[in-house]
Amino acid sequence: MKKISKFKIVEIILAIMMVASFVFFIWGQVMLPPENNIEDDAITSFETDWTRVTKDGKEQIDVPGQCEAKQGEWVNIETILPDNQGDTWFYIRSMQQDIKIYVGDELREEYSTLDTQLFGKTSTMAYVMFPVYESDAGKKLSIELMSDSVYTGYVSEIFMGEKSNIVNHLYSLYVPGAIVAAVLLLIGVLVVLGSVFVYFFYKKKADIIYLGNATVLAASWLLVESKIRQFVFPNSTIAMMMGFLLIALLPYPILSYINRIQKYRYNKIYMTIGTCTAINFAGVVLLQVLNVKDFFETMTSSHIIIVILIVTMAVTIILDCVKGQVREYREVAVGFACLMAAGIFEIVLTYMVSAQMNGISLCIGLIVLVVAAGLKSVRDMVNIEKEKQYAIATGESKAKFLANMSHEIRTPINTIIGMNEMILRENNNESIEEYAYNIKSASQMLLGLINDVLDFSKIEAGKFQIVENNYNLIDVLKDAILGVETRAKQKGLEVKLDIDENMPSVLKGDEIRIKQILNNLLSNAAKYTETGSITFSAKGIKENDGYSLLLSVKDTGIGIKKADIETLFDSFQRFELNKNRYIEGAGLGLNITKLLVNLMNGTIDVQSQYGEGSTFIVKLPQEVIDDTPIGNINQKRKVLKEEKISKEGVHIPNANILIVDDTKMNLFVIKKLLERTQAKLDTAESGNQCLEMTKNKKYDLILMDHMMPEPDGIQTLHLIRGDETNKNIETPVIVLTANAIVGMKEQYLAEGFAGYLSKPVEIDELEKMIIKFI
Ligand code: ADP
Repeated sequence: MKKISKFKIVEIILAIMMVASFVFFIWGQVMLPPENNIEDDAITSFETDWTRVTKDGKEQIDVPGQCEAKQGEWVNIETILPDNQGDTWFYIRSMQQDIKIYVGDELREEYSTLDTQLFGKTSTMAYVMFPVYESDAGKKLSIELMSDSVYTGYVSEIFMGEKSNIVNHLYSLYVPGAIVAAVLLLIGVLVVLGSVFVYFFYKKKADIIYLGNATVLAASWLLVESKIRQFVFPNSTIAMMMGFLLIALLPYPILSYINRIQKYRYNKIYMTIGTCTAINFAGVVLLQVLNVKDFFETMTSSHIIIVILIVTMAVTIILDCVKGQVREYREVAVGFACLMAAGIFEIVLTYMVSAQMNGISLCIGLIVLVVAAGLKSVRDMVNIEKEKQYAIATGESKAKFLANMSHEIRTPINTIIGMNEMILRENNNESIEEYAYNIKSASQMLLGLINDVLDFSKIEAGKFQIVENNYNLIDVLKDAILGVETRAKQKGLEVKLDIDENMPSVLKGDEIRIKQILNNLLSNAAKYTETGSITFSAKGIKENDGYSLLLSVKDTGIGIKKADIETLFDSFQRFELNKNRYIEGAGLGLNITKLLVNLMNGTIDVQSQYGEGSTFIVKLPQEVIDDTPIGNINQKRKVLKEEKISKEGVHIPNANILIVDDTKMNLFVIKKLLERTQAKLDTAESGNQCLEMTKNKKYDLILMDHMMPEPDGIQTLHLIRGDETNKNIETPVIVLTANAIVGMKEQYLAEGFAGYLSKPVEIDELEKMIIKFI
């Protein structure tokens, strides 16, 4: 902690030094005397004693000023060069004019872009500079100006001085504006690139890209419009034309941006302005290309559209203020207000104070707007991130809740099933046996439902995994057939089997999930068929890239309508609710089946004739481990039945088994289940009690619940294994858990458990474990 706080102090000192340096720089530039030798009086205005020469004589004129003339007419003005001017330079600004400059009778300088430009009937604005020598003293200086435009007769400022001083003077007037415009351009480009980056890498559209566009357009406009463009761009005319194109286009990104941040509430008006912008652009370009009207003559229409857009924005922002909706984009509203204020300031400066418009305040206004919009974007992103985190958190808590709930529900069902098993075993009364069978089937259905919900939420959360192991195909098929036969028998349906004897006996894949798929399809067939038969067929197909199981379940049931087939595999879809009112189901089975098949890279297809029956066909790629044919399934099943009947359970009267569970009911059920093994059974109600008991007595097997208050089953196992003095340091421990999530088995084995049994514990499985470990 101390180290960090010391480092922070150093950082603060460095930050203060950094700010102080910049403050020092700015203060020095503003407050100290200039040292760059650019003196304001290095150039002098040459604006007195000019006369205009016409056919009718001469008249005194004001410079700068405008004299009367017809468009396209040459205007001739003259003066006498002073005696003392020495070698020097003059400059005059062409306002869309051709210019000819004579000293005495000699043509000293000529300016026109009419021959080199693509379109238009006037020359581009530029500063025209020409030299005057000592020997010219006292000679007549005459300037001829011509423009086929409203600028006819306009004589702009005329200055005299060293060439470098003239250029310096112009630079000092316009460079600050150009620098601010260049900075603005950079900001605009960065905003656009940033938005593109966000779009490609985060797949999020950032509205601010439009403001970035607008900034690029405005900054480019300021640059090409700069009065020193002739020193930067080789072709001034094209730069000038670009200025008009940019101004005509400027409304587009601005209205796109504001329309979006106002959530398309005023879409109609913005669309109208957008359409006008497009029509105006096409119109002014066409008029220029056809040489009907030059850009500068048609720019009023572009300006009108901009004014309409500004007024519209102001009105809609005010409306949003009234409605309280401005809160969504409050920063941007403030930014727009600043931009408008800057625009008004610029206009006032230009017309009232007659300063040269250099766009600095407009640029600053735009920068404020972009920063404001950036703040809004950041706020939006933070909000989205917050919402995402919230959604993730609620999703996680939902999944956790489902897992907890299913665990909580399983525990009492386990007790019900276990107790019921006792009743079935010990009872001799026929009607009670029937009740008990009903309890058994209802609880098993409930358990199936919970498993479905749990699977579904796991798959949804992307936490579902396929676990592949070697398995005996015959076991999978036998289980599936046994299940469907039991259900079919209850409804009086015939079960037809078509199992290919040549299928390989050992495959590699997720046995449990294949059983689940078959169980879903076969139980649906039984559920949705009232009379007739269910046909289960299984065969294998060898393809170039491997082996696939082809399993099909055909029924003669109610069938599925064509329209329903499309959504058959969606979650919570149930059809024919009138007919199926009494058939239980959550509409999750087929959805899970489809997801499982997909996870195994398989396919599932359905063919159905409404009212006649359905066939579901599943194809699952599997790896062949042992291709010895499985043989005739019916014979194998007979052997199994006989085996089961002859089996009366295992007898291990000398074995010591410890059962650990924090639920007394569970302890009771397991004890009852194990009674017939005649083993000596001890019980512990907590991990700590288990540790006590295992210290002093050696057991042959420990059955341990996982979810117990601390230490839980896993911790208890580790404590036993870690204690050299514990007599059971090597005793096999089998975990009993209601946590029947896929992949859990592997996790438990990795923790050091010898085996895994999921609750409700089946007596056969339990006895198998006992045989294996004792
Ligand atoms: P459920 O739990 O409702 O059976 P499923 O996802 O397994 O959920 O099935 C979705 C719906 O598809 C069922 O409600 C039923 O309308 C229809 N369906 C499924 N299998 C069949 C079948 N073999 N025959 C007719 N309809 C079926």
